[in-house]
Amino acid sequence: MAYKYIYGPIISRRLGVSLGVTTIPHKVCSFNCIYCEIGFTTLQTLQRKEYIKADDILNELKDFLANNTNKIDHITFSGLGEPTLNIKLGYIIRELKKITTIPIAVLSNGSLITQEDVKADLLEADIVKFTLNAADDTTYRKINLNPPQVKVEDVIKDIVDFRKVFKNELWIEVLLVKGINNTIGNYLNLYNALSLIRPDKIHINTVVRAPALKVSEPLSFSELLEASRIINHGSEVIYKKGSRRIAPQTQIINASNSKSLS
Ligand code: SF4
Repeated sequence: MAYKYIYGPIISRRLGVSLGVTTIPHKVCSFNCIYCEIGFTTLQTLQRKEYIKADDILNELKDFLANNTNKIDHITFSGLGEPTLNIKLGYIIRELKKITTIPIAVLSNGSLITQEDVKADLLEADIVKFTLNAADDTTYRKINLNPPQVKVEDVIKDIVDFRKVFKNELWIEVLLVKGINNTIGNYLNLYNALSLIRPDKIHINTVVRAPALKVSEPLSFSELLEASRIINHGSEVIYKKGSRRIAPQTQIINASNSKSLS
């Protein structure tokens, strides 16, 4: 069977052997992040619908799981845009859990977490990772190019509410772009937001591959460590082989062999 909606498995820095699943067509997303590695958003929307038929995705997953004998660490909903835009996400996860015990991760930009049906869908996952690059609206918009209806204070408030009921792993990724969100003020704002959210893990990351906009420049390893010291909360820095310095309370993930951002 030729697969259209699943890809990999790939070696992920954070999720081990990860089978990727997309629930939406290429670059249907609520954001148009300046660092996006898969190009410009072609349809920017906050509307949830069944962009790809849930049963078509499930048929591919069933076929793969029936024929694959290699170990998979996670099934990861990420893909080509924002996975929570598919209104059948919760149904897909529930059906998947009937046929496999492989943990399920959802990587989201968090833009739809203000909607109760999205919260309900994400409760089905074993890991939910939200990207939160800034905690004030101006910086948030500068990096995400999000629509004005998405306000970061609402996103943070609803992630906090979600945290209260979600008993599995909640992770936050902070992606830093030079000259955009690498200010001390942003780090302190994030520190405050993360004090409220209380995630299980925080990953400090930067631009790795060619981004959508060439103005998106990565931070150096020492700059990432500096950010991690201020953002704190036991944050983990993603880095490439050859870097040596380790900050107090900062764990380092060696990304030298990684093949995926997820
Ligand atoms: S990085 Fe993620 S959230 Fe941002 S535009 Fe790309 S797919 Fe959308």
